[in-house]
Amino acid sequence: MVKKVLIVGAGYAGIEAALTLNKKRKKDEVEITLVDKNEYHTLLTELHETAGNRVSEEAIRIPLGRIFKYTGVKVIKDEIKSFDFENNKLHSKNKEFSYDYLVMAMGSTPNFFGIPGLKENAFTLWSFDDAVRIREHIKNCFILAEHEENEQERKRLLTFVVGGAGFTGVEMIGELALWTKDLAKEHDIKNREIRLIIVDMMSRILSNLSEKNAKKAHKYLKKLGVEILLNTPIKEVNAEGFSTGEQFIDTKTLIWAAGVRSAEEVDEMAMEKLGGPKRLKVDEFCRTKFENVYAVGDIGATMDEQGKPQPAMVENAIQTGRGAAKNILKSIRSQEPEIVTVKMHGTMVSVGNFFAVSDIMGRELPVWLSIIMKFMVNIHYLWEITGFWGVARYLYHELLERRQRKLIIEQHWSTRIQAWWLVPVRLFLGWAWLYEGIKKIGEGWFLSPKLATFFGYATGTDANTAATPLAGAEATEGAVEGAAATVQTLFNLDLGFINIILEKTADMIFRIDFGPVNWFIENIVLANDTTQMVFQIGVVVAEIVLGLALLSGTFTFLAALASIALTANFIMTTGIYEKTWWMIFAAIACMGGAGRAFGVDYYLIPYLNNVWEYLWKNHRFSLIFKRSFDRPE
Ligand SMILES: Cc1cc2nc3c(=O)[nH]c(=O)nc-3n(C[C@H](O)[C@H](O)[C@H](O)COP(=O)(O)OP(=O)(O)OC[C@H]3O[C@@H](n4cnc5c(N)ncnc54)[C@H](O)[C@@H]3O)c2cc1C
Repeated sequence: MVKKVLIVGAGYAGIEAALTLNKKRKKDEVEITLVDKNEYHTLLTELHETAGNRVSEEAIRIPLGRIFKYTGVKVIKDEIKSFDFENNKLHSKNKEFSYDYLVMAMGSTPNFFGIPGLKENAFTLWSFDDAVRIREHIKNCFILAEHEENEQERKRLLTFVVGGAGFTGVEMIGELALWTKDLAKEHDIKNREIRLIIVDMMSRILSNLSEKNAKKAHKYLKKLGVEILLNTPIKEVNAEGFSTGEQFIDTKTLIWAAGVRSAEEVDEMAMEKLGGPKRLKVDEFCRTKFENVYAVGDIGATMDEQGKPQPAMVENAIQTGRGAAKNILKSIRSQEPEIVTVKMHGTMVSVGNFFAVSDIMGRELPVWLSIIMKFMVNIHYLWEITGFWGVARYLYHELLERRQRKLIIEQHWSTRIQAWWLVPVRLFLGWAWLYEGIKKIGEGWFLSPKLATFFGYATGTDANTAATPLAGAEATEGAVEGAAATVQTLFNLDLGFINIILEKTADMIFRIDFGPVNWFIENIVLANDTTQMVFQIGVVVAEIVLGLALLSGTFTFLAALASIALTANFIMTTGIYEKTWWMIFAAIACMGGAGRAFGVDYYLIPYLNNVWEYLWKNHRFSLIFKRSFDRPE
């Protein structure tokens, strides 16, 4: 009989549980239903980027319909209000849900620790709506401050405080430090009028990172102009600011990022909860006291080797979600459950665009590597849940549609690519390669060795003995002094290392004489007639394949990249000529999506992504399936 598995919460844990069940199920084994109060999954780890106006809100939410396309998971938008574990039933406002197995993955919610006025007056950063609300509020503070004549009120509007110096708080204040500078310029407000403060009860920031990394981040925040108040509890909050006991800080913006606890639904559950965060007690299989009810992610307290709850972080959520799904299938198949061991690999914290620290498997990575790692982790996650589509969308938002453009390079790169403008360039480049290839066939490149002459080497009966470069005067025969002089003026690149010399001839723009390449040609390519034939046939085939790929717009990005590589190869062998140098620039232009308009790529790339996604989500390879030819919305 088909078993009903109900998952509540489409966060990191719930999604992983649903995808794992879908991938590992046998036919007619389970019916998977996922209920969430939103129709999208929120990338909680990136909320600060939207709150700080680095990326648009679209960057941090992914439609659930998109994630569960090609799966058997039924997604329902609803909010579960009550849990009846005795009768295997849940209730929303209007509906009843029954289950054989339940996975609770409702995540966390901010913890206000009973501080008077905090809940009513502070902003939280725990949902998509929170992030948008903070962003709009901060914009509004600047709009109001610009024309505010009351000095105290203006000061209050321009003081931004984050409560809690853990990773969420530090990331948030880092974004504000960068964004408020732009806002100040926009609203004609002096930077020195803006006050940025981060407050924490602890004696240092980032207590979950090593001391060294915390110090690095502390120093960087100071450099950005952030005041760091440590050993400072927030005692009481009202609409005009907050008191620390020793002082009252005037502000309209207090963002509370100091405490989390399990989703409020657990309060009504007759189950054991651990400590202040109230996470549900689970066994080593992620089961609660009800054997068919699992609690995963932030809501469940899986223990580490020291008997402490695993931190409420993404890695824990993904691994417990996956573990619970596997154990449900084992239970259905009457197999022994598997212990869910969570392996935490580390923590990364970014402060704005250009700074990050990380402790990965006990090692402190340098700033540049931490920034890359943060990107890679997101890319890896999105690749797993949505394939190429999610990764491309993420990179689009992070790189091309970044809202704050600090670096000159960011300011100039385009946000929208009108691919059809590039079609003539692509066709012309394709035709040029095809023409070159066909011409070489006509010249007998498939019949006898030609490369030695082509590269300007003296030829003999056996290339092996005759691979000697022609004398300089002979090789540059026909050089026109005037043209060479012009070329020298234009391209006088003195790179001055590893034996790079520029040669100029009549219609040659330039050639780089690069020792290792010369060695390779003389000793490998021209070693004998057979190697010469292999390489020259390779060149002809490559030119024809590139030509056809570009003309048809098939794998255009790769073809353009290969074009550049082949041209670079010519620069170091035959030299590049007046009539061919444009091919480099045309190829660079074609990398920007030239196959997407009037090209096969328009259909092929989404199709390949769909095939991959279907395989990844179902563990079944299929070329034709329902909606296999869908294009991205
Ligand atoms: C700003 C911020 C930054 C963070 N940065 C990092 C970081 O850098 N690294 C890291 O590892 N962790 C980070 N975290 C923590 C991480 O996001 C959480 O550990 C993770 O999201 C937990 O996943 P989850 O699936 O348990 O819950 P969530 O991702 O919170 O998902 C819970 C889901 O349940 C749904 N839901 C809740 N109640 C109901 C209901 N009654 N009915 C229906 N649906 C419901 C919600 O809509 C939500 O979709 C950060 C968190 C925040 C807020």
